[in-house]
Amino acid sequence: MFKSTFRLGQILGIPIEVHVSWILAFILFTVSFTFTFRQAYNWPTSLTWVVGLATSLLLFVSVLLHELAHSVYARSKEIPVRNITLFIFGGVSQITEEPKTANTEFAMAFAGPLTSFMLAALFWILSLVTQKASEPITALSRYLAVTNAGLGAFNLIPGFPLDGGRVFRSILWSLGQNLERATRWASLVGQGIAYLMIIIGIWQFFSGNAGNGLWLVFIGWFLDNAAQSSYQQVATQRLLAGHTVQEIMNRDCTALSPNLALDSLVNDHILATGRRCFPVVEGDALQGLLTIHNVKQVPREQWATTTVREAMIPADKLKTVPPDKGLWLALQEMTADGVNQLPVMENRRLVGLLARDNVLSFIRTRAELGV
Ligand SMILES: [Zn+2]
Repeated sequence: MFKSTFRLGQILGIPIEVHVSWILAFILFTVSFTFTFRQAYNWPTSLTWVVGLATSLLLFVSVLLHELAHSVYARSKEIPVRNITLFIFGGVSQITEEPKTANTEFAMAFAGPLTSFMLAALFWILSLVTQKASEPITALSRYLAVTNAGLGAFNLIPGFPLDGGRVFRSILWSLGQNLERATRWASLVGQGIAYLMIIIGIWQFFSGNAGNGLWLVFIGWFLDNAAQSSYQQVATQRLLAGHTVQEIMNRDCTALSPNLALDSLVNDHILATGRRCFPVVEGDALQGLLTIHNVKQVPREQWATTTVREAMIPADKLKTVPPDKGLWLALQEMTADGVNQLPVMENRRLVGLLARDNVLSFIRTRAELGV
């Protein structure tokens, strides 16, 4: 399977990952810095490229420090951080829970831009100190001062889920005491800003600034998507709050014997009932889980000679949930692990099966009724 992100390492226990699209951004920035330096200074070609590459690398470190500021603050407030991912538009801290108070959200959001502004100040001072000593270092630090200041300022645009949008949301939240309503307004403003970026981008594209125009259109499009899905997430979380797995799990799962052959499983169970997922039980103990997907991986002519045990996902590879687990957390686990069902276990006994479809129709019904 093609992996779109790879891990660089860990800082303070937070995994740092890079999305493949970031490589493109890194090349674009290196080339762009190098060309800018070539026009402005009379350096040998190799030196120009080295300074361009160094500037690009330090910009990458700056983005990382910006994200680390968010993540480390989140950690200090016991909000879990899954990882930091760098991608084509910069970085993102995968913070899986919403902050508990408006003040925490404000500080967590502001920590990033504040770090960028401090880096801008540091690089600016460095450029002044080295002015007489080294032209390349002065040039490099001046560009990094400007890009870091730009990074801080861009992130403060009040378009949720940008940092500025989160600051804006935290203010609405503390005024109205309602996170969902605050998120709705902040994401509407975020979408408005995204459309504005797209319009300005198109206008720039046609007035001779094609590169910048396209870039703005892409960022606007990305921001629009992010604003919508962030609101969806908060709305879903509110709908699921206070509900547990046992309310909607399937209790009447037909358990299969591990020695059943796949062809009788298909004829007697799958085609007859339309069900797509079966727990495999021997005595009282859960042996594994068999889904249609597992059956499809076995060639059809081998169905008569293959048993359920050979095709199933064995129990030790399964994630399970207890019946009193919150639905929101269960849904997040399914999404994180890329599975569509979770066996529900109580006192090491299988008591039901939670399918993603169950959760989705629960959400749809409640959203439709507005309850
Ligand atoms: Zn940020």
